[in-house]
Amino acid sequence: MNTLKRRVAMQTRGAPSAPRDVAPGNPACVLGPGQDCRHALVDDQANQRLFAYEQGVRARFAGIVDMLRGISALQHEPDFEHQAQRIALQRLQWELPGELLRNAWVRGLDMRALHAHCQFHAARQCVRLAAQEQAPWRDALPLQAALLAECGFHTVDISPCADGRLQGVVPYVLRMAQDEHVLVKAYAGAMFDVEADMADWAQRELERLNGAFDHLPGARQGLRYLKIAIYHFSSAHSTQQGCAFHASNDRQAVESAAARLDELRVAIERSHGVGAAPDVLLIGLDTDLDALRIHLPDGDGDVNAYRYVDTAELYRDSLGLDAQDARERIAARIDELQHMDGWGQGYGTMRDGMRRLVLALAEANLSQIEYVIRHHAGRYAVIGHDEEFVCAGETLPELQLRNLFYFAHLDTVEEGAADLDVGMRIFRALNLRQGLSVPILVHFTYSSRVPGSRERAALRARRVRDAIVARYQALAEQGLLHCRMALSDRQGQECCEFLQDPDSGSAH
Ligand SMILES: [Zn+2]
Repeated sequence: MNTLKRRVAMQTRGAPSAPRDVAPGNPACVLGPGQDCRHALVDDQANQRLFAYEQGVRARFAGIVDMLRGISALQHEPDFEHQAQRIALQRLQWELPGELLRNAWVRGLDMRALHAHCQFHAARQCVRLAAQEQAPWRDALPLQAALLAECGFHTVDISPCADGRLQGVVPYVLRMAQDEHVLVKAYAGAMFDVEADMADWAQRELERLNGAFDHLPGARQGLRYLKIAIYHFSSAHSTQQGCAFHASNDRQAVESAAARLDELRVAIERSHGVGAAPDVLLIGLDTDLDALRIHLPDGDGDVNAYRYVDTAELYRDSLGLDAQDARERIAARIDELQHMDGWGQGYGTMRDGMRRLVLALAEANLSQIEYVIRHHAGRYAVIGHDEEFVCAGETLPELQLRNLFYFAHLDTVEEGAADLDVGMRIFRALNLRQGLSVPILVHFTYSSRVPGSRERAALRARRVRDAIVARYQALAEQGLLHCRMALSDRQGQECCEFLQDPDSGSAH
């Protein structure tokens, strides 16, 4: 079996048909009867606000099927179109395509097309309301730009795996505010593109030299660029629900991400001189619990697959202590691990700013561990895939929630074919098995400052949409594939605007 087939087999085997949580509760919280998991360093108020946001977004998608069932029962009524639009507006706040409703009395309702249409609109609604809906918790996140700068970083560039379970990793799991100082680009298996990262690094370093970060704390001492790679694993079903790109082989996932970080440092040092390389950090995410393995860089800035601190262990070991004692316990454990022997041995200890960041990340993640304990019964009910749609092209940074969409990062279908195929396999189990189509949102961004940029992005979107329809032609012909194209301006007002195209609402 070749690598791709093996990946796909591992992906689908455990996907949505996997048994619901049969694993024990969260190992971070093993208590006696009557005891409660409440850690002194957890921000309970932020957790409640994040949970309210999660419920709101999920409800937007969950309401679609109920609404469609409701209108399906009315399709032979004389004023069906009017009634259906009224119900859609009332329950979902957007209209349905009139032509699909008008022909219902002859051909019956095309529920697959309506379902896909609603998924796209729900996604756009989430993007457009993100600023308003995320406001209650955005400023409460502990890792803001000022703290990152105090730790010595002007930019944090994060590449998680594109797996839907990592979609909420920045605000939820890391508790980091996503602003212009935080770049997030997901890649299957966290295998980020070294050349693209070199370009991002060069762009931000140029901005630094131009004084763009002089207002940040610590700017005088010199701020640096930090690259973080985030791989993932499943503690309950390690061989089935780990990273599909790495065939659920945890060792391969961590070693590949560590190697890619090394390649980036070597590439920049060879191109721009010794000392130019960015700092790097390697993080592992247990997608069952949202607990982290934070790999500790050594004095040379090198990361190692075996030298890490486990935040579930930190939570358990410091539960019941007051805030000050818990902080001291956590710091002592991290310092102890820096001096470990054997496979994890490093040379010297990490510099002060990096140590401060690691401590901040570890403490912030305790809140997410307790979030899962309190709001998801200690371990996510669906530990595998449960995405609503596929996003192909460039991601929607406003959408930050676990399992909301499967992301295939690509400029052309040829180069992203492997990722798209994995996504289609996932949706074969999620949607096709139930008779629903696969909704694919083709999304690209452009810069309104650059003449012709929007037109080029629109052309690219159409080219990718056509290539997707051609690649999965049999599904498209059966009405089991629906594509929609959307564009966003990186600097201006246009945000996830659907491209008007005669074929864009339906790929058949
Ligand atoms: Zn993965």
